[in-house]
Amino acid sequence: MPEDVVPAGTNQSPMSRQWRGLLREYADRLNITEATPIVTLGEGGTPLIAAPALSARTGANVFVKYEGMNPTGSFKDRGMTMAISKAVEHGAKAVICASTGNTSASAAAYAAHAGITSVVLIPAGKISMGKLSQAVAHNAEILQVEGNFDDCLEIARELAAYYPVHLVNSVNPDRIAGQKTAAFEVIEVLGDAPDFHFIPVGNAGNYTAYYRGYSEDLARGASTKLPRMFGFQAEGSAPLVRGEVVKNPETIASAIRIGNPASWNFAIEAHAGSNGYFGAISDANILEAQRILSAEVGIFVEPASAISVAGLLERSAAGEVPKGSKVVLTVTGHGLKDPQWALRRADGTDVSPRLVPIDITEIAGILGLQKVAE
Ligand SMILES: *Cc1c(COP(=O)(O)O)cnc(C)c1O
Repeated sequence: MPEDVVPAGTNQSPMSRQWRGLLREYADRLNITEATPIVTLGEGGTPLIAAPALSARTGANVFVKYEGMNPTGSFKDRGMTMAISKAVEHGAKAVICASTGNTSASAAAYAAHAGITSVVLIPAGKISMGKLSQAVAHNAEILQVEGNFDDCLEIARELAAYYPVHLVNSVNPDRIAGQKTAAFEVIEVLGDAPDFHFIPVGNAGNYTAYYRGYSEDLARGASTKLPRMFGFQAEGSAPLVRGEVVKNPETIASAIRIGNPASWNFAIEAHAGSNGYFGAISDANILEAQRILSAEVGIFVEPASAISVAGLLERSAAGEVPKGSKVVLTVTGHGLKDPQWALRRADGTDVSPRLVPIDITEIAGILGLQKVAE
């Protein structure tokens, strides 16, 4: 067999180079050693996609960091590859997390890959079917708590403090360290940091992580500036905007239904350090932004993710985003996670595609097509 022919099923061909997951790709910039077992599903390396329709609407130069392309469909995989690898390095046999859905999907998948147990605490009746199905599929031990996310996190923290289970929520610094790699990727593609970075904010771990990633690249000379970090919360769940804990947060954007952000102080630091901004967006505007992104750009995201788009449109309309600015929007999770919102029109009625008979002439008529060939 010639040297350059490689058996099927391997990725060793000299012609192709598979992305190796972010722990290997960024080994020199993360706290991993020879002793760290690399638990990876190939996360990271997500596309940064030009969004001409959003550029046209705003006059800015807009790019979308599509984190729904990660293995379990959200950016949580960036933190989880790091957190589970470090947990295994430290001998953990079980991990625990509180979750609005995506953390549990990710923790369950990476724990399954590592051959350890995952326990997830979710607010009863509050997580989307897509996300729940992932945790079930990956064989997590799932408990629905009769409370909200903030209650779940408090219990998870206490359990991890007193029992042999390792906490993998974003209060675990390994999570934020893994997530900061998204900022490295943005700079590699653009050649420098953008002027603005728009991002959804729940526990504010990701807001913190991007700020740290951008800061590190600036410090090592890979970029010349920090982007202004613009974070958005849903109106009914906007503790950082209001400056106080929200007791009963409400929004259709379940991934950011957080009343007491775990990374509150870090977020304040990132906000101050980047001349940042926190804004609140209504559920109606979140859903409108979701439709714009899917129908005009071709990127389908879950509602929480669409708040980055809604935030850009709102700040642009307010005259706060100068024409020609380079803007990156992080969209955090895939639309298939929570598809019910796409199936509902703005007026609240459900979409049901028109029923037609098996009749070409009638279907062509309905579509308004004129015959061009006999
Ligand atoms: C977790 C999550 C968020 C919020 O991220 P934080 O780090 O908690 O601020 C936003 N969108 C999606 C889809 C998520 O899964």
